[in-house]
Amino acid sequence: MKLIVKSKSSSLHHKLIAFKNDINGTYENIKKDLKEDLLMSLLKEQGYIYAYCMKKINQDNSTIEHIIGQKYKDGNIDLGKENELKYENLLAVCLGNSCKELNCDKSRSKYQEKRPLYVNPLENRIMTNIKFTNNGLIFYEDFIEIDKIKEFKNHNSHLESENIKYDIQKILNLNCNDLKEKRKVLIEALKKYTNNWSDKEKIRKKLQIYELKYNSEYEELCQVAIYFLSKKL
Ligand SMILES: [Zn+2]
Repeated sequence: MKLIVKSKSSSLHHKLIAFKNDINGTYENIKKDLKEDLLMSLLKEQGYIYAYCMKKINQDNSTIEHIIGQKYKDGNIDLGKENELKYENLLAVCLGNSCKELNCDKSRSKYQEKRPLYVNPLENRIMTNIKFTNNGLIFYEDFIEIDKIKEFKNHNSHLESENIKYDIQKILNLNCNDLKEKRKVLIEALKKYTNNWSDKEKIRKKLQIYELKYNSEYEELCQVAIYFLSKKL
């Protein structure tokens, strides 16, 4: 997962507010050209990768997701409706078809009514605690075996860290086999390239490549590489 820094000065931010206020617009009746501009702005902001799986995305293989789900209600408060046209609540996402079972927001959709998203990619505090095992598993804070992650009533625990672990494992299905294997291949290639992590010069050079955007784009799985390379310096 990768931190997303939302641009407060984005023109889309203002266009969406105007659309909502001037003509009582809703996300459902958003105009085609506004939606296209919106997706482009989100893609650019994210360096053309998706925060959760870090897959490369572009206009043709992405869609727009709501961090606070459109149907999410907190008691009587319709938070979904309140936030559906807020720029800071929107992300460009992959199509969720990386694994045999669904992943990312496709996997999340069936939980959206009752559960907010805890593993919020806009929160630096959370993103800095996202880690990976040598085998390519993604986890939060301390690694626990997958089958030890508890099932919660309404998919909610009173502990934030448990909710985040549950999001990663169950809600977004980020440890599905294909995603895990993809990460593992990258980790092994980096290990080999840096002679068992011993060549500090090569580590530094690679780290730069994964930290920066080239032609506005991040490398696929960049945060996996950054996690391992910076640990080995
Ligand atoms: Zn994805």
